[in-house]
Amino acid sequence: MGIKVAKFGGSSVADALQIEKIKNITKNDEDIKYVIVSAPGKRYSDDSKVTDLLYLCKTHIEHKIPYEQIFQVIYDRFMAVEADLGVDVDIKGELKSIKSEIEDGASVDFIASRGEYLNAKIIAAYLGFDFIDARDIIKFNEKGRLMEDLTNETIAKVLGQHERAVIPGFYGEKLEAGTVKTFSRGGSDITGALIAKAVDADVYENWTDVSGFLMADPRIVDDPKPIKKISYMELRELAYMGASVLHEDAIYPAKAADIPINIRNTNRPEDPGTMITSQPDTDGGHIISGIAGKKDFTVIGIYKSHLANEKGFIRKLAGIIEDHDMTIEHLPTGIDTMSVVIDNKMLNGKLDELVDEFDSQLKPDSMEVFENMALIATVGAGMASRKGTSAMLFTALAQAGVNIRMIDQGSSEMNIIVGVENQDFEKSIKAIYRAFIN
Ligand code: ASP
Repeated sequence: MGIKVAKFGGSSVADALQIEKIKNITKNDEDIKYVIVSAPGKRYSDDSKVTDLLYLCKTHIEHKIPYEQIFQVIYDRFMAVEADLGVDVDIKGELKSIKSEIEDGASVDFIASRGEYLNAKIIAAYLGFDFIDARDIIKFNEKGRLMEDLTNETIAKVLGQHERAVIPGFYGEKLEAGTVKTFSRGGSDITGALIAKAVDADVYENWTDVSGFLMADPRIVDDPKPIKKISYMELRELAYMGASVLHEDAIYPAKAADIPINIRNTNRPEDPGTMITSQPDTDGGHIISGIAGKKDFTVIGIYKSHLANEKGFIRKLAGIIEDHDMTIEHLPTGIDTMSVVIDNKMLNGKLDELVDEFDSQLKPDSMEVFENMALIATVGAGMASRKGTSAMLFTALAQAGVNIRMIDQGSSEMNIIVGVENQDFEKSIKAIYRAFIN
C-alpha cells in the first residue's frame, strides 16, 4: 500500500456534482490519503471563480463601493454545495464570521483564502476525512517567504496523526503575525507538492479537467494523442516552447523529492493521464514525447570567412545583444556562419539598429535577415538512442514543402529545433506529428 496525495483544481470542485466525482475517486483508491482542494472554479465558461469574486469584494471595499452583492453570490454558492451534498458544517456561521472579519478590515490574503477554506471544510465532511487548516502546516516568515524546512517538518508531524485528510490549498500562515498568507494565483498546486514531499508520497496526483498533456496543440493537430509518460526535462523543453503545462514553481517540491506527478481528469477517472517522472521513458512507446512551437522570431544570419578561427567573435556579438538589453533565443553555428535567433517582442523595432551594429563591429562578409520565423521543437528523450530521427523529421518537412531556415539540436539530443517561416508553422507541426506518431 502506498501514499497518494491528490490535489483537485477549481473545475474539479466547482459544485456538488464535481465533488461527488471526488468521492468516487477517493473511494476507489484507498491509497489517496491526503486531498488538497482549490476554491470552486468555473462551472461553465462565463461563470466566475470564487477566488476572483473574493478579490473583487476586497477591491470594492477598498474603493468604498458596496460589496454585499458579490458576497451574496459566494454565500449562495457555498450554501448550495453544502445543501446538495447533504452535509452540515455550519457554512452559514462560517460565512457570517468571514463577513464580520471583512468588515473589521481583514487582509486581502485572508479574504482570498476563504474559498479554499470553506471548500475544504465541506469536502472533508462529505468524504468523511479529517479537515486540517493549511494555516497549521504551511508556514511563511515575516517577509512572506515560505519556510520550507519548517513547513516540511510540520506537515509530516501533523498529517502523520491523520489517516485521511482534506487540506485547503493556496495559503498558509505567517509566523509571528499569525496572519494568512497566500501563494501566487494557482498556488494550490504548490500546497499539493509540498504535502506530497513532506509525507513522502509515492505519487502526487494533480486532478483537473483534461486527461494530461497532449503530444501537440489540438488547435493544430486533430485529436492529438495524450502523453502517457514524460520526464521533467522534456516537459521543460515543451513548456519553454509554448506548450501550456504545469508551472515549474508549482511542482518544484515534488520534483526535488523525486515524486512522480500524475495529471488526471476528474471527469474521466478511467484515463491514466500523464505521468511526469525524473527519468525519461525510453523503452518502447513513441520516439518523441511531444511537439511545441512559437511564432514570431527573427533570424539574423552572419557570414564571415574564417569566423570559426576568430577570437572573441561570440563575446563581441553577445556584448552587442546585451547592450541592447536583449537575449538570444538560439545561436546555431556553422563553419563560417552564425545565426542569431531573437524573439520579435525583444527586438521591438530595433532590428535595423542591431543589424547596423553587427555590421560595424563584427565586420561580416554578408548578413541575411529572416523576419517572421517560427521555431518548432520536437522533444523526446528517445531520440538520442534512435538512428535516423533527424532524417525522419527533415524528410517529413521536405515532403510537406517546408523550407527549413535553421536547425538547432540540444547537446542532450533530447530535442531538435527547426526554424521555419511563420506561414509554414501549422503545416510543419502537422507533418512532424504524422511522421512520428501513428
Ligand atoms: N483559488 C486560487 C486561484 O484561483 C488558487 C488555486 O486554485 O490554485 O488562484
